[in-house]
Amino acid sequence: MRLNGKIAIVTGGSRGIGEAIVRRLVREGATVYATYNSSSAAAEAIATDLAAQGGTVHFRKLDVRDSLACQRFIEEIVSEVGHLDALVNNAGITRDALLLRMNEQDWDEVIATNLRSVFVMTKAVLRPMLSQRSGRIVNISSVVGISGNAGQANYAASKAGVIAFTKSIARELSSRNVLVNCVAPGYIETDMTGKLTEEQRQALLRSVPLNRAGTGDDVAGVVAFLLSDDASYITGQTIAVDGGMVMLP
Ligand code: NDP
Repeated sequence: MRLNGKIAIVTGGSRGIGEAIVRRLVREGATVYATYNSSSAAAEAIATDLAAQGGTVHFRKLDVRDSLACQRFIEEIVSEVGHLDALVNNAGITRDALLLRMNEQDWDEVIATNLRSVFVMTKAVLRPMLSQRSGRIVNISSVVGISGNAGQANYAASKAGVIAFTKSIARELSSRNVLVNCVAPGYIETDMTGKLTEEQRQALLRSVPLNRAGTGDDVAGVVAFLLSDDASYITGQTIAVDGGMVMLP
């Protein structure tokens, strides 16, 4: 129960890694405000399940590409609860294509969902966190943002952007005890990677020293750690959760 009494926001909590993060934070004692975009039934099922276990997650519909809606969402929580301890920017999409075939819409959608939303959501939580003189922000990047990946120029650029954004604001916010870090997952089994062919799956697995795909729980444990008191001297870092796929210097 490392997060007892904490108020945390998780974007894209309805499926995959986000769902695992929501479940983990609630299990560690946090009250979670999570968002979904299209998976309302899944969100409702998670909320019901966690309530039956004595936990609290409030799901709200939010398209993270809608900046005004993002600002309103944060304002509502702050006026309801009075403070805010943690933000996890998890929502993300892929629109893969080799560059020759990638169009501007593929580019813009990925950048808006994966990168601009991180800027907008982070700006929205700044006021409460700065005045409290405490706060934690964890951004879900990707190892592809470090290594690059053929067919994912848009996605890799968005995830590299998230890492650089994290480092910059970690420096800006450190004097007010607001800590900002990235988690960079490798190959995690979710709907996002469910689209891969068996051949692509096997090729990916060959690049993982631990020789297995990761799970949402593998990522969620690291996020919970970064939001806990155990991580109070860590900021501006990127932690790869990838079975050793990309070993950072
Ligand atoms: P999934 O496709 O399984 O889930 C994506 C989540 O993001 C869903 O909850 C979805 O909500 C939400 N979402 C998508 N678009 C929007 C939007 N416009 N507004 C709000 N929410 C949105 O993905 P994963 O769980 O695999 O990925 C989660 C994060 O982890 C992403 O940032 C991804 O880039 C990153 N990641 C994943 C890896 C993997 O191997 N799976 C590897 C590296 C990074 P809804 O269903 O309600 O629409």
